[in-house]
Amino acid sequence: MKITVLSLFPEILRGFFESSIMAKAVERGLMSCELVNIRDYAIDKHRKCDDEVFGGGAGMLMLPGPLSRALEAAGSSPCPPAGEASPEPGARKRTVFVTPSGRLFNQAMAAEFSREAELVIVCGRYEGVDQRVIDRYVTDEVSIGDYVLSSGEIAALVLVDAVYRLVPGVISGESLLEESFAASGGARAAALLEYPQYTRPALYDTLRVPEVLTSGHHANIVRWRLRESVRKTLAYRPELLAAEGLSSEVRKLLREIITEGGNDEPNTEDPGAANDGR
Ligand code: SAM
Repeated sequence: MKITVLSLFPEILRGFFESSIMAKAVERGLMSCELVNIRDYAIDKHRKCDDEVFGGGAGMLMLPGPLSRALEAAGSSPCPPAGEASPEPGARKRTVFVTPSGRLFNQAMAAEFSREAELVIVCGRYEGVDQRVIDRYVTDEVSIGDYVLSSGEIAALVLVDAVYRLVPGVISGESLLEESFAASGGARAAALLEYPQYTRPALYDTLRVPEVLTSGHHANIVRWRLRESVRKTLAYRPELLAAEGLSSEVRKLLREIITEGGNDEPNTEDPGAANDGR
């Protein structure tokens, strides 16, 4: 997979692309990455890339010219003018603008992007980007959360990191199976949060690892982990348990946890009610 990131401050991104698993993935030919400085596509002598917002208001906006030229050079195709036939679905290079006003990013979106051969990501600055560039080149507007960062580089890194680790071969498929939000089928069959995990020593200070995990009893460990996943999801992200497709085992555990009052975390909602009677 190739990822191209367009930014006014590519040096913010460089360290990530040159270190850790990403560098190994590039070395192994699984990933290729390009950082593009949008300012290189400014044609005036001051290399100007921003200007005031029409209609007034605080702040500056990224100019359409330099960004459009950078996008064309990265291979993002413009959407056809009104009245002309749209290209086949998937024919346009996936071009993502990270923005707080986009669709909220999640694991399913990361998985979808990881199946693309190429991804172009645009980082905004100042008040953002002239809407005409978004309309012409951007296929997806994506937000990483309901807050405003000062620029798009960190958001782009969040996207890149969540996406490239799902590209086959980058990390072991097994490590991805029971991660948070992975609907891995079987009893789990829902995007649950991950269960708690422990490492050596089994007794740390006065704190002991749950006994079941050192018992060597595989079936009991699997059951315990599923139960803890359900408990944690109920505590922190109950809306995930209201989704379609919960296995009967998860629904049973959920009822047990709620009945026993075993969910001692802060949440008081009862998403199980949404699944009762299914
Ligand atoms: N005026 C914009 C608004 O109110 O929606 C905020 C602009 S923000 C200061 C500058 C840039 O940071 C944005 O263009 C975007 O690229 C990036 N950014 C900020 N918050 C983000 C978020 N939650 N998700 C994705 N990108 C974000």
